[in-house]
Amino acid sequence: MTAPSSARVALVNLGCRLNRVESDIVANALISAGCELVDKSEADAIVINTCAVTGEAQTKTRKAVRGAARLSQSPFVVATGCAASLFASELRELGPNVVVEARKDLVAKRVLELMGADAGRQVRTGILALSPTPTGRTRPGIKIQDGCDNRCTYCIVWKARGPSRSVSSGEVVRAVEEAYGRGAHEVVLTGVNLGNYRTSEKDELGIGVGLDGLLSHILGTTSIDRVRISSLEPPDVSCGLLDVMASSGGRVAPFLHICLQSGCDATLKRMGRVYDTSLYARVVEQARARMPRLALGCDLIVGFPGETEEEFEQSYSFCEQMEFARMHVFRYSRRPGTPAAQYEDQVPPVTMARRSEAMRALAKRMRLRCMQGLLGTSEDVLVQSAGRAVSEGLFDVLVDESLPVGEFAHVRFETVEEGALVGKCIKS
Ligand code: SF4
Repeated sequence: MTAPSSARVALVNLGCRLNRVESDIVANALISAGCELVDKSEADAIVINTCAVTGEAQTKTRKAVRGAARLSQSPFVVATGCAASLFASELRELGPNVVVEARKDLVAKRVLELMGADAGRQVRTGILALSPTPTGRTRPGIKIQDGCDNRCTYCIVWKARGPSRSVSSGEVVRAVEEAYGRGAHEVVLTGVNLGNYRTSEKDELGIGVGLDGLLSHILGTTSIDRVRISSLEPPDVSCGLLDVMASSGGRVAPFLHICLQSGCDATLKRMGRVYDTSLYARVVEQARARMPRLALGCDLIVGFPGETEEEFEQSYSFCEQMEFARMHVFRYSRRPGTPAAQYEDQVPPVTMARRSEAMRALAKRMRLRCMQGLLGTSEDVLVQSAGRAVSEGLFDVLVDESLPVGEFAHVRFETVEEGALVGKCIKS
């Protein structure tokens, strides 16, 4: 094949926020290797960053790969990410033009090879290497950690991603500065298990730091206006971390997404989770004592094997007590090769659907109550698109369309409309 002067590549992202960030890193590597990012219909190669967290995600992955492989211009399809690492042969069977490259840091190099382009061109490798986002997001994600050392019995992610490793604090600070330099006012620190964040003594700081140390370092050495932490496991929410957040003068968003998964101790135990509901409640109490405006989010699974009606009721009432601002409710998904997939007492889909519906209705009511509790108060919201902003606690806020996108506006919350706060601008 003759080397094209500029390989035309489409990038499709599936899955979680971390995948989104990693797709941006891949996009950056492709651009700096001389590729042009285009729509799927014009592409010579289509990169699909896959997901395998649930059976549904895996089905979507298969559909996306098969669909791309059948496009009339017969592009190469490069599957990368979690499903590529766990189910490579299954994906290869979806088309003769499907190539699997599980390592995202090698995707750009692989695309150049496939296109017959000069594979010796400088391609930045190392998935933990951080790059500024090429897409001008208003709240860019910064990957600070990958992998997980836990072994939850339902989870396939740690198998795909491997053991926990962290980006050095110096590299994170540089990425934050870069994002700020490109106009971002808020960055979101992401990882598979952020609480595992730990650098070695070889770090630029000369000492090993955890997430609290990293945050202090970012606050002390960069001018970023706001940092947001994505999800954490309950045992990792330390008093040190809460103190840094509470004393940051709002520079760390008063928002915590603490994975719960179940509000029933017996279920948590079967899930292989390393905390119980009393620890979870204590963590939340400590956080709220320091940050009265804290918005609390969680992930929750319904229908885990063996979840009886009584266990579900316990889970439901614990969630109600926690007064969550945001809940991601998932139905248990049986993932091959995990211990929970072998459990005998799988919950029927119809029961899971009913429980999921009940939990989602509760989540909606709690969210509304949290929003109503903010009425009459004011804060800086970040304008994401014309007329829409996001609050400190990740609530959607309707604002005046004339407010500049990507900037903060100080608004007072006047009312709640269609699931969003309505903010009146006091100062922009
Ligand atoms: S903490 Fe558990 S659920 Fe989360 S990635 Fe690790 S093993 Fe999976």
